[in-house]
Amino acid sequence: MGELLLAEQRAAVCDYARRMTADGLVVGTSGNVSARAGDLVAVTPSGVDYDALTPADIPVVALDGSIVDGSLRPTSELPMHLTVYRKATDPDGAEIAAVVHTHSVHATAVSTLVEEVPPIHYMLATIGPTARVAPYATFGTTELADAMLTALTDRHGCLLANHGTITYGDTLSAAYHRAQQLEWVCHLWLTARAAGTPTLLPQTEINHVVNKLHTYGQPK
Ligand SMILES: [Zn+2]
Repeated sequence: MGELLLAEQRAAVCDYARRMTADGLVVGTSGNVSARAGDLVAVTPSGVDYDALTPADIPVVALDGSIVDGSLRPTSELPMHLTVYRKATDPDGAEIAAVVHTHSVHATAVSTLVEEVPPIHYMLATIGPTARVAPYATFGTTELADAMLTALTDRHGCLLANHGTITYGDTLSAAYHRAQQLEWVCHLWLTARAAGTPTLLPQTEINHVVNKLHTYGQPK
C-alpha cells in the first residue's frame, strides 16, 4: 500500500471533526472542517458519523471542487471552504491552511439578533476589530459563500445568519481556537444580556487588542 495522500491533514480533519462534536460546537454531523496542503484540501464527508471516520475515508478535493481521493462525498458546505482558500486574505498576512464551520448554539443565536457581535470581551479580537454576521442564504450555495466572503473581509471569521460560524487559520488548531472563542464571546453576551444591559468595550480597545495579538500572538 502506498502512502496516503495528505495523510497528516486527513488525520487532523478526523481529530477536529470528533472534537467539535465532543465540545458541543455541533450536534451530529452538522459542522465541518478542512485542511489544505498546496492545491489540495482534505474535508469532512457528508452525512457520515464522525466517530467512525478514519483518515482514508476523508475526501481530498482540488481547489475547483473536483474529487482527487477518498470514497466518500465531501460536505455539502464545500463551496464555503473552497471560497475561503481561493479568495480570502488573512489580515495578518498568514497562510490560510484550515477552515472550521460550526453550528454552535450561542453564536447561532446571536446571528439572529445583531449584525455584528457586540464587543463585550477583548477575546473578540481573535476574530478582528468586529465579527460580522453574513446575511442568510441556503447552505451549500454560492450565494452563501459570497455573503461569507464579504463578511470575512479583514477578519479571521464571521457568523452566518440563522446558520452558524466560520473561522480559518494557518492550522486547524488556530481555526478551531477561533471558533471556540467566537462561541464563548457570544455565550457571554447572551448571558449578560439575559441578566441586564451589559457594558460594552469601546471599539478603540478592541482595535488595540487586535494589534497586540498581531505582535504577540494568543492572549492569556
Ligand atoms: Zn452549516
